[in-house]
Amino acid sequence: MSETISAKRHARSLMGERIRKSGTDAEAKQAVLNDAKALKAEIAVLEDQLEELDSQLFTLALAIPNDTHPDVPIGPESESVILSTHGPDPLPASSVRDHVSICRTLNLLDIEAGATVTGSSWYYLINEGALLEQALINYALSIALKHGFTPVTTPDVVRADIASRCGFQPRDHNSDPPTSQMYHLASSHTGSHHPELVLAGTAEIPLAGMFANKILQPDDLPRKLVGLGRAFRAEAGARGTDTRGLYRVHQFTKLELFVACEARASEAIMEQLRQLQIEIFEGLGFPFRVLDMPTEELGASAYRKYDIEAWMPGRGSWGEISSTSNCTDYQARRLHIRHRPLISAEPGPSLPFAHTLNGTAAAIPRLIIALLENGAEFGLEGSLRRINLPIALQPFWIGGSKRELI
Ligand code: AMP
Repeated sequence: MSETISAKRHARSLMGERIRKSGTDAEAKQAVLNDAKALKAEIAVLEDQLEELDSQLFTLALAIPNDTHPDVPIGPESESVILSTHGPDPLPASSVRDHVSICRTLNLLDIEAGATVTGSSWYYLINEGALLEQALINYALSIALKHGFTPVTTPDVVRADIASRCGFQPRDHNSDPPTSQMYHLASSHTGSHHPELVLAGTAEIPLAGMFANKILQPDDLPRKLVGLGRAFRAEAGARGTDTRGLYRVHQFTKLELFVACEARASEAIMEQLRQLQIEIFEGLGFPFRVLDMPTEELGASAYRKYDIEAWMPGRGSWGEISSTSNCTDYQARRLHIRHRPLISAEPGPSLPFAHTLNGTAAAIPRLIIALLENGAEFGLEGSLRRINLPIALQPFWIGGSKRELI
């Protein structure tokens, strides 16, 4: 179709010449003018059709997921492979270790006020609960900085278009009625000049978006960022034990690792991210394990994904606390993130796309669950005596180091 449009545009560009050639012949001149008018109308119709097809093609292309690494297990979540286990032996499951009742005893969390002010699965962290969040962020941040990551605080509101280019579809048109895992901002000025905005589900979106339409310089690669943001999740369809307490909430603070690199470096960088995360969670002293996630768990953008799960004895199960993805060039192609080659190879027709990776450094609510449920110590009569806190967190307590919560 674009060729037809080009041919018609070319024919139109010759009209001036035809008018000149018609000289003083008014009838011939009028005929050319009529042709030009008809051609203009035809071009306008075709341009509209082309625009519509382009947008359909773009929507279809967004539905195509990334390729998968040849070693990724095939199938659903149950096919995930445990790569390593860390920390102490898991404690026996016990409902007395339930984080909701521990939070109630120690006055760390106000779910009722969250429900009154916003709704269910919204909450307030209070007292040492709020300080624990700050300590965890600064602890994880200190490790990321040690490994050369640049600190960033990100906007939590992003264009829906940037989110979908990162592999997050603001609306799921396959469900009936269409659902959204993102909160859409109702704006008083959502006219055609204003982009559709959503609350970011993860800082990965604004971090990847920082590089949109950029050409990265070889000296700058890999670019390693650690972003602090609030993650907002509509969690449409979530119910049951997952929505109890802090496990699956609508808003949480998250420290996110993000790397943009050249293609051949991304697999090694994914292993470095895994080591960095192991360092963070080993310092927190609870049992955890690293999983190689199977194909059906990769989402649109991941080529390979490692999840980390912590043992949560009060819940009586392993719970995901972190996720790391190598998105290869999936996001970079959609966001136009390119780089100049490190080694000046044969000059190619165009610059190579970067690879992007992301991983959780600290997603606060589930870290709090793991710390409280594993660190709780009970007296002989069964009452909560204290929560033992990891030594690694102590330098990060505001107002002096803290060994325990009582
Ligand atoms: P994701 O970006 O979905 O892979 O999530 C990254 C991490 O955020 C997960 O490993 C969890 O630790 C945490 N997380 C995800 N969704 C929620 C939620 N609704 N509530 C609390 N934590 C969450």
